Amino acid sequence: MNILAIGAHPDDIEFLCAATLAKYVRAGNRVFMCHLCTGDKGHFEIPPEELREIRDREAEKAAAVIGAKHLKLDFPDCELHYNLESVTRTVKVIRQARPDVIITHSPSDYMPDHVITSQVVFDSSFHATLPNFSAGGEPTSVIPPIYYMDTLAGVEFLPEEYVDVTETMEAKRQMLLCHQSQYQWLKKHDNIDTVEFIETMARMRGLQCGAKYAEGFRRCKVWGRNPTSRLLP
Ligand SMILES: [Zn+2]
Repeated sequence: MNILAIGAHPDDIEFLCAATLAKYVRAGNRVFMCHLCTGDKGHFEIPPEELREIRDREAEKAAAVIGAKHLKLDFPDCELHYNLESVTRTVKVIRQARPDVIITHSPSDYMPDHVITSQVVFDSSFHATLPNFSAGGEPTSVIPPIYYMDTLAGVEFLPEEYVDVTETMEAKRQMLLCHQSQYQWLKKHDNIDTVEFIETMARMRGLQCGAKYAEGFRRCKVWGRNPTSRLLP
C-alpha cells in the first residue's frame, strides 16, 4: 500500500504517528510524509526565512530515518487557510502519492493550522479523484480511508484503533531527534520535553490496549471511505 501522512508542521507527523509509519515501512508499504506549513514561526531567535530552510532539512532527515519520502507545501505557519489554493495544492500532493490510506490531524486538534489541515485533507482526497478538478497530475482512482492521528497530549481524543508500536518506538525517538531546532522552542514556548512527551503519550495509549507502547487513531466514518478490513499495521 501507499500511505500518505499529512501534518501541518514539520514535526507533527513525527509526534503523533511516526512509530506507526515505521511499522508500515517494515511491513513493506511505501510511506510519504508531507507537511503543509513550513514551520517558520517556531523559534525565538532564528528568523522565518532561515528557519524554514532548517526545518525542511530536519523533516527530510526524519523521513529518511524510516525510508519515507518527504513531501511539502510551503504555506507559512498561521497563513494556511481553507481555500481553493490550499485544496488545489494538496490535491496535487495526493495525486503524486496515490495513497491507499491517509493519516492526518484530528478535526479537534489544538491549533488552527492543524484543524485547517484536517479539513483541507478531507476535501482534497475526494477532489483528487475528480478528472475535472484541475490541479495537475493524474486523478486518483480511490477515495482513500482517512485515519485521524492523536491530538496533542491526547486531549479530547479517544482512540478507536490502536497500533502496538513497541518495536518501532526507537525509530520514532530517532525521528524526533532530527528536529533539533525545536527542542528549546518547545521547552520554552510549550513546556514540552520532546522525548519525555512522546514516551508518556505512547505509554498511556499502550496502557489502554495492553501494549508497552502504542499510538491511537480514529477513523473518518463517511460513505466511500469504509474499509472492510483493518488497514493499520
Ligand atoms: Zn503543529
